[in-house]
Amino acid sequence: MTFQKRLSVVLFAGWLGMWSPMDRPAHAEGLVPSDITIDDDALFVIGNTLFTLYHELGHALVDLLDLPVIGREEDAVDGFAAVTMIPETPDEVRDALIVAVADGWRVQGDLADDGGERAYWGEHALDEQRHYAIVCLMVGSDQDGFYDYALDAGLPEERIETCSEDFQLMRDSWERLLAPYEQPPHKAETVLGAPITVIFDEPMEQQVRLFDLIRRDGLLEAGVDRFAKRFVLPAPVTIRFAPCNDANAYWSPWEREITICYELIDEYDAILTEGMIR
Ligand SMILES: [Zn+2]
Repeated sequence: MTFQKRLSVVLFAGWLGMWSPMDRPAHAEGLVPSDITIDDDALFVIGNTLFTLYHELGHALVDLLDLPVIGREEDAVDGFAAVTMIPETPDEVRDALIVAVADGWRVQGDLADDGGERAYWGEHALDEQRHYAIVCLMVGSDQDGFYDYALDAGLPEERIETCSEDFQLMRDSWERLLAPYEQPPHKAETVLGAPITVIFDEPMEQQVRLFDLIRRDGLLEAGVDRFAKRFVLPAPVTIRFAPCNDANAYWSPWEREITICYELIDEYDAILTEGMIR
């Protein structure tokens, strides 16, 4: 076992509860509800699925609101998903969900090292870079609360010191871009814009277990509901969870539809299993 791989196992300890956000007492308001409990076996898959969902909703916002993007759109919407999921104040459930996301990218990077393709020319940053970018935003949001986690993840101290600037720039940029489309707080219980519809297509037989797992706590639907009540969308959006013979998720501009393939969620589950057995 290489040091890098051992580190992944250590990081997995995070969402198993062996890493605890001790200095971050729980309470916060945000797009990800905190007034729910998630079973340990669902945390990793739900966290990564939620990140994918907000990443694709980021693409939808860029498209529907005709937002300017400077730099790679993939980096920008990763940033949107991260600042959406990182709680403003410490929160046990939401801290664990973003830790699951960061750990997920780390392991995907390790798997790429084991023979996967490294697409330097790709639209996306490399998995390891996506991992470090999220860890940097986490520690940038809370230097004390995520310091040890960031250090364990391999982020050098001198980089940790600059991460609060990364976090503030990412959060403030999205807030300024989205401010004209925010619902007024006193209307926060109503959807003022076009609605978002969530559809769960029938899963394949081998996907039924994960299908039940991602639905049993209602977190994905609750996260979408909060999103729909936060921003006034100019057109209806559909989010479709579906079998599609591909471990993928994407925004289709013409249909104004986000597709999240059950195969991708299955891959998160497989990553979890792979990580556990190393
Ligand atoms: Zn994307």
